Amino acid sequence: MTNTKMKRVCILGSTGSIGTQTLQVISEHPDLFEAYVLTANSRADLLIQQAKEYKPQCVVIADESKYEYVRDALADDPVQVYTGAEALCQVVQMEPVDIVLTALVGFSGLRPTISAIRAGKPIALANKETLVVAGELITGLCLEHRVPLLPVDSEHSAIFQSLMGEVSAVEKIILTASGGPFRTFTLDQLRDVTPAQALKHPNWDMGAKITIDSASMMNKGFEVIEARWLFDVAPDKIQVVVHPQSILHSAVQFEDGAVKGQLGMPDMRVPIQLALSYPQRLKSSFPRIDWWDLKDLTFEKPDAEKFRCLQMAYEAIRMGGNAACIVNAANEVANLAFRQERCKFLQMADVIEQTLQRIPHQEKPTLQDYLDCDSETRIIANEIINTKS
Ligand code: NAD
Ligand code: MG
Repeated sequence: MTNTKMKRVCILGSTGSIGTQTLQVISEHPDLFEAYVLTANSRADLLIQQAKEYKPQCVVIADESKYEYVRDALADDPVQVYTGAEALCQVVQMEPVDIVLTALVGFSGLRPTISAIRAGKPIALANKETLVVAGELITGLCLEHRVPLLPVDSEHSAIFQSLMGEVSAVEKIILTASGGPFRTFTLDQLRDVTPAQALKHPNWDMGAKITIDSASMMNKGFEVIEARWLFDVAPDKIQVVVHPQSILHSAVQFEDGAVKGQLGMPDMRVPIQLALSYPQRLKSSFPRIDWWDLKDLTFEKPDAEKFRCLQMAYEAIRMGGNAACIVNAANEVANLAFRQERCKFLQMADVIEQTLQRIPHQEKPTLQDYLDCDSETRIIANEIINTKS
């Protein structure tokens, strides 16, 4: 190991699925990584427990109603406690922070990520919605501030790894998808699926929002948009391939026909660790592939009729401007409504489609335009859901 400098990590969303796995990675390498800032939305008790264990410099509890509770619980600990959405934009800029890992959910990641980029902090990006909403703006800012955008999403990490050392053009990106819990369901069976069924993902244990997005394949649509911006490839060069075993995490095909992919057990700690340690790879104790145990690696075409959200994502990139921002916000509203049983599974796609038709198109949105578009979309999407039920 040549570079022994300790990296101070700011984890936005430390109490979630990605956040807690990031803390596991940090625990594996206490000589290399330090949890410098931890933030949570409302899970106060877990944030307090993390603060006591990892001793960060500061924590943010975004939900202001939990502020006093967290502050009092940590009164005897050497940690500063902040609250509110604005605090997220400030802590990412703290001078000692070496890298910001964005693991919060949805649109809430946009402003803190922009704030971190403006302060020149490298981004380990799990919060794909940031790139979905404002990919052009974000990648432009990263170039301007010379900030690396390191993928945490397993597929994008696989693509990134497949591109390491390559200087030639990409012919095609093969973006793999597990197909989620409803891969083999008929359209008719999909009509009455429940949130509990949708929340049972076959291969990954993730937060609720992304698990529902995986079931509808909106998640894969978002990943197409994410790949388009991360790797600067045209959407028609990104092919989604259903691979139910989630062993091949994605691949790149070059102009000579060669395909390079990255394989491994489905374990998010691998891409999280690489994003933190890049360009080095560190040792890990995470599970290895047992080749004799692997029975099949199979590949299928996604069903466009059953999973309309996937097509809508392609349509949103084609439209450009604020289209993907609208799709994202309408999906956040529909996803929550489905979890609360206010909207049926297949209606989520209708809500997104109808919202997209109702919000005026904007060709080159500014940050303020995105913020306004997000708020306006939520109102319309909720209206559509309320008139349906
Ligand atoms: P999660 O719901 O488990 O955790 C979300 C975290 O963000 C929590 O710490 C929560 O307190 C915080 N948070 C949520 N809303 C917030 C808000 N409005 N303001 C401030 N903080 C807020 O979610 P997750 O599964 O860890 O996913 C996080 C992100 O990573 C998502 O964008 C998801 O798409 C992406 N991602 C997750 C996985 C995975 O395996 N879980 C894989 C790839 C990408
Ligand atoms: Mg993924």
